[in-house]
Amino acid sequence: MTATPPTERRFHIATLGCSKNRVDSDGMEHLLRQRGMAPSARPGDAGVVIVNTCGFLGAARAESVGVIEELLAVRQPGQVIIAAGCMPALGNYAHDIPAGVDRVLTTREWFRIGDVVGELLGDPAQAEVAGCEGMLTTFTAAQAGPSAYVKVADGCDHACAFCTIPAIKGRQVSKRPLHVLGEVVDLVSRGTKEIVLVAQDTIRYGADLGIKHGLPQLLESIVEGVPDLPWLRLLYIYPSPLTLKMVDTMARHDALLPYLDMPIQHADKGVLRAMNRPSDIDMTRRLIDHARVTLAEPVMRTTLIVGFPGETEAAFRTLYDFVAEQEFDHVGVFPWSPEPGTKAVELDLPRVPADVAEERRAAIMELQQGISLKKNRALVGRTIEVLIEAVGEAEDDDGNTEPIAVGRARRHAPEVDGMVFVPGTHEVGSLVELEVATAGPYDLWTHAPGAERLPVRPAEARASAGRAARARAKLARRQSTHNRPERRGGQPLPMLRESPAAD
Ligand code: SF4
Repeated sequence: MTATPPTERRFHIATLGCSKNRVDSDGMEHLLRQRGMAPSARPGDAGVVIVNTCGFLGAARAESVGVIEELLAVRQPGQVIIAAGCMPALGNYAHDIPAGVDRVLTTREWFRIGDVVGELLGDPAQAEVAGCEGMLTTFTAAQAGPSAYVKVADGCDHACAFCTIPAIKGRQVSKRPLHVLGEVVDLVSRGTKEIVLVAQDTIRYGADLGIKHGLPQLLESIVEGVPDLPWLRLLYIYPSPLTLKMVDTMARHDALLPYLDMPIQHADKGVLRAMNRPSDIDMTRRLIDHARVTLAEPVMRTTLIVGFPGETEAAFRTLYDFVAEQEFDHVGVFPWSPEPGTKAVELDLPRVPADVAEERRAAIMELQQGISLKKNRALVGRTIEVLIEAVGEAEDDDGNTEPIAVGRARRHAPEVDGMVFVPGTHEVGSLVELEVATAGPYDLWTHAPGAERLPVRPAEARASAGRAARARAKLARRQSTHNRPERRGGQPLPMLRESPAAD
């Protein structure tokens, strides 16, 4: 087979890291399309290749460097390679970006991608893009499947001792409420069924704009202004009394999913103080209790760090007991990673050996898997609403195939939680009522309400066809990398197969 030479007017973006990076990649895609360029699924076919890097942890930086090196090794004649994202924004690590990259753009400069590419390709200068206001420029995300992230703010005003984000992003800058609303209106008019609002600390949305209780107000305006949006989800809610009003707002609207993603990081006061996090764990308890009594069928997710300097056996026990007591629906656990430039590496506290941190991570995940399994089993026989994201086929031991659809329930955030399988075909993007037949610690297997047939078994599930399936397969690949240890507690996804016909 003859390889197709790269086309100057095609671009490929490899996105690493979190959902917020994905939103920036969508913004870059939008700008490049405005220049008359077209996206390419394969880097080898593209004249311009952009790696949107992640700099959050050492492992993530290593992965970013690895991806750039791989692309450089197979670079086509004339191909332009650009490193963008968080890694170039970290002064200490910008020099780790491999030589040979044509241009570097920090996470605060992604909106210059059009000019940079134009300059590299020798295009005539283009007029400023209308509405371009820097890193929070409002763009309609080029979402994959029926779900879209909308970044409402960027940057962070906190100073958690383990975190590099404030150094990478600077202080929080919120997008104007009307811009967020316009983005949601546009996405929903094009078929999006689930909007996921993200920021580094979503609960503080609007504080820099001088808006008091900016997030509840924003939620009210979206629900009112976009009545045909079925699912609106929030991620990354810092534990704060601001959560109380937000939960009250969530309780008033069915479209606001009762899903509280509140990263608490730890439960021991001493460790929380050393982390420079809110150390009043009783306040956190009150926030969770408020959500539990206020919301109908609330779903709780948190993330934790184990092995932070000074975490004694007793401190870990406090955390373990808290997880057992609270019975969260979803938990992700990171072993602490010593990131140069953070306050945590300078703390004069005893270090926890890496193998002990790993044992602690595994202990909490084992505990949580039992909790999650119990909660999922309680759903068996119940009817749940499922957003279909992909259709494909399931294969039995004899090689016989049958159609299968895969989606998510209200209790599952994209990428980090479980998924729902159902035999048969369903339209991608449809919301269907299904009965839970079987439950694992992460995933659910369902059938039509009242149907008697057995569901497809997990190991047999193979999904194909369409962009959503491809997104799922990408997730499976990303999950195998070690920079996202929170994903499903390191559990593998059921086998997913990409369709060669996927666009
Ligand atoms: S809240 Fe803390 S962990 Fe989250 S981005 Fe801000 S500094 Fe980092």
